[in-house]
Amino acid sequence: MKQKVHPILGIGFGPANLSLAVILEELGHLDDAHFIERSSVFQWQDEQLLSGADIQNNPFRDLAMQRNQDSPHTFIKYLASRGALTDYLHLNAKFPLRREYGDYLAWVARAFSALVDYGQGAAQLTLQDDEDGNELFCVETHDNQRHLGRTVVLGTGRSPRVPPPFPASLGHTVFHSTRYLSSINAFNDQNIDVAVIGASQSAIEIVLNLLERPNVRQVTSIHRSIGFRLKDTSPYSRQVFLPEFVDYFHPLPAAVKRRLRADLRSINYAACDQDVIDRLTTVQREYSLIGSERLRLRPFTEVTEIDTPSDGGPHRLVTRETNHHTRETLDADVVVLATGFKDFGIGADDERYHPLLEGVASRLPLDEEGVPEVGRDYAIELKAPASAPRPLRIYLNGLCEASHGMGDAGALAMLSARASDIAASLLAPPAPASRRPAYEAMR
Ligand SMILES: Cc1cc2nc3c(=O)[nH]c(=O)nc-3n(C[C@H](O)[C@H](O)[C@H](O)COP(=O)(O)OP(=O)(O)OC[C@H]3O[C@@H](n4cnc5c(N)ncnc54)[C@H](O)[C@@H]3O)c2cc1C
Repeated sequence: MKQKVHPILGIGFGPANLSLAVILEELGHLDDAHFIERSSVFQWQDEQLLSGADIQNNPFRDLAMQRNQDSPHTFIKYLASRGALTDYLHLNAKFPLRREYGDYLAWVARAFSALVDYGQGAAQLTLQDDEDGNELFCVETHDNQRHLGRTVVLGTGRSPRVPPPFPASLGHTVFHSTRYLSSINAFNDQNIDVAVIGASQSAIEIVLNLLERPNVRQVTSIHRSIGFRLKDTSPYSRQVFLPEFVDYFHPLPAAVKRRLRADLRSINYAACDQDVIDRLTTVQREYSLIGSERLRLRPFTEVTEIDTPSDGGPHRLVTRETNHHTRETLDADVVVLATGFKDFGIGADDERYHPLLEGVASRLPLDEEGVPEVGRDYAIELKAPASAPRPLRIYLNGLCEASHGMGDAGALAMLSARASDIAASLLAPPAPASRRPAYEAMR
């Protein structure tokens, strides 16, 4: 039987591609889309669904509300569907729990389940010809299923960043925060010492979670910075989460973008919310009153070596104080890497492009630094033979922090605006230029 070619083939069905499904439905083009998702059901960062954790964005900047207040897929409609709207408003909580927001996203995802093949992780993306000789995309999954698409929308989230010296030690005792709950729960019947690397919101939440676990003897929090810094939540800084900022940022030269991103880093990275900092300082004071050394902080410290003993004993970590250059060794049964995610770029912490693009690497248009050029409409237009009717496009939905600015990958607040931009370009190629007023207008 002839295999169906989907006009729009989405890889990954997290919040980013879910948001795309919502706008395609609004525009009457849902039938054009199909998605494959690695997880067996819809989930949103389930590995860090820690009790008490809340979200870090206004919940009304959801999958649809800013664009269409009548959408059936808003957070308000979700609350109302549960009969929970009055309760929610009455509580006056600054932010909903992550568990509640995840449930909202899953509630919306259920409306689109017919479009999604769950339990199918994309392993490879290649090009092939259809019977008319036109090129199309072929996505092969880990269980050897094939999906064909005229256009691909990559919504996989970013690749975890595992800095040196940890890559060779990755396994069930050394793991990234994206595998936290399933990995740490495997030790529930063993007493363990844990080292947590990083000073991000995820790092502090994990430290707090570990301290709630009776089987955890000691937690050592290791970070290069002075400690857990407060996020920059000024509304002026948080303009990075406005679509107009993307218009401002996208045309800048790569080197200027890097400088600006470094300058704005504390809005979202290596920084934490006040509530978790308050919780940790309270725990610290209590431990100090009872003389407990269950929590150890190692600021201005980096791990230079990690040794994996063959007898199944703890890892020995060699650390270096970054200013005094003193060295220390410490043992940990488990090491959690809350070390963030990779962006596209040439830095030591970056990758040039998402690993799934390897199969089309020779066709990627590269900038002067060898990084794929991504249009304002989030599309990479593949280099095409002169005879091709029009270039093939891969859209990056939620991977464009380096090219589109701080608000891109790490923010739910931008989902609906970005999905609108992608849908507009998908349905009306070639992409229109920016549809928004210039950034100057908002100053
Ligand atoms: C713990 C945590 C909490 C966060 N909290 C907030 C918050 O409160 N507010 C905020 O604005 N942002 C938050 N973020 C930022 C986060 O990146 C976004 O909220 C959001 O998850 C991004 O959505 P996404 O769809 O781009 O990526 P993801 O949520 O990562 O979804 C990607 C999906 O693609 C699937 N996938 C990956 N690879 C493949 C493949 N090869 N084949 C098929 N499927 C694949 C994954 O299984 C996943 O379902 C948080 C991030 C983390 C890690």
